[in-house]
Amino acid sequence: MIEWSRYRLNGRYFTPLGENGMAERFPTICPRGHPLGPDTVLVGSYPCLCAHRPHRTWRCWTCDSGRVDSVWVWPPCIHHPEWTAWAI
Ligand SMILES: [Zn+2]
Ligand SMILES: [Zn+2]
Repeated sequence: MIEWSRYRLNGRYFTPLGENGMAERFPTICPRGHPLGPDTVLVGSYPCLCAHRPHRTWRCWTCDSGRVDSVWVWPPCIHHPEWTAWAI
């Protein structure tokens, strides 16, 4: 099984997949309470050096259609305080 520390990964945000694989955990509701899943969320990666790694972002389609900015981000980004930091 994956040793998270060996890859500088936080085991809370990943889950083992098979013998040597891993999968990212992800939020199931948006910051405003809409369900997130297939066809309801835009998963993105935001290049930035503030966290020494790219940020993962999840943008809610339902909020987007109402022109409300509703984005989860992990790790938190100092350049986007309007994005809600996702924490497990
Ligand atoms: Zn939403
Ligand atoms: Zn950042």
